[in-house]
Amino acid sequence: MSIIKKQKLIIAGPCSAESEKQVIQTAVELKKNDTIDILRAGVWKPRTKPGGYEGSGENGLKWLKKAKEATGIPIATEVAKPHHVELAINHGVDVVWIGARTTANPFSVQEIADELKNSALEVLIKNPINADINLWIGAYERVKLSGLRNIGLIHRGFTSFGNPDFRNAPFWQIPIEMKRLFPDTPMICDPSHIGGKRYRLEQIIQKSLNLDYDGLMIESHHDPDSALTDKEQQIKPQALNDLFERIQWRSKSIDKTEFTDKINLLREELKELDDELLSIFFARMKISNNIGKLKKENNLAILQTKYWDERLKYLMAIGKKNNLDEQFLKTVLETIHLESIRFQNDAKI
Ligand code: PEP
Ligand code: MN
Repeated sequence: MSIIKKQKLIIAGPCSAESEKQVIQTAVELKKNDTIDILRAGVWKPRTKPGGYEGSGENGLKWLKKAKEATGIPIATEVAKPHHVELAINHGVDVVWIGARTTANPFSVQEIADELKNSALEVLIKNPINADINLWIGAYERVKLSGLRNIGLIHRGFTSFGNPDFRNAPFWQIPIEMKRLFPDTPMICDPSHIGGKRYRLEQIIQKSLNLDYDGLMIESHHDPDSALTDKEQQIKPQALNDLFERIQWRSKSIDKTEFTDKINLLREELKELDDELLSIFFARMKISNNIGKLKKENNLAILQTKYWDERLKYLMAIGKKNNLDEQFLKTVLETIHLESIRFQNDAKI
């Protein structure tokens, strides 16, 4: 029976295994409320810069094993090298995860996948630090090819600029696409690394549950203020339990005719609008093509910055009046404009 394929899976535990006392105390406190399925702790810590806390290594695995014996909760840790896999197996680890920095490196993922072959480990693959879905897909496929059956995905957000509300911007469209491509693979949200601050956890968790995620991985420490890594995002076990009382898991489907009728109607309306949107795009690109020809005939530069600037400002102002999100509208308009430039560029006289 797979551990990670349980519905409403909860993985919790400290960012790093720091001492025997810390691991056991956190595990026992988490166990008290019976809310967790898997205890997590990193023992090899990939720090961005040298000099940071690098983890407790094999000792940390021993503490995790003791915590498992004391509470009966299965244990999980991060592996970044084949040797880590070997040590994890030797210390009775049940689940390993591949960290975001490792997922971004196909060489490392392949080495780990080779080592995982024929093991009974269950594996979770975090999204890569950069917002490149193909690296995530590639890591998933490499692990899958090693013959393992119990594989899941963890969404922990992506490095980005200009997203001050997150430590790692969620870019929800990427995990949504992964769910579409691999519908039978559990998708777990790691709100701790997305948010970076404990006060942000609740909102991120609820959003992931609204999107039908299968589970959560949350960093919890018996005394977050003394944590050696990621102290601002770790939460006390009791606070975690209180948080679980407030969040709502949504059902995957519903069998109520009234609801089904209503949603089908609304979906029909959306379908029509989407069809219309596409025909508008076709018509628009045809015009761009004609403009491209005209500019070419007259040897005029394609990009007319002043004209574009005025149009953008005008459309953004209308969007604002109608409560359209500014970032959303800007992205849409800029994307259309870029595609229009491409059409103009390719136009043949
Ligand atoms: C972690 O889970 O503690 C961790 C280092 O995560 P990530 O690989 O997402 O940065
Ligand atoms: Mn961490």
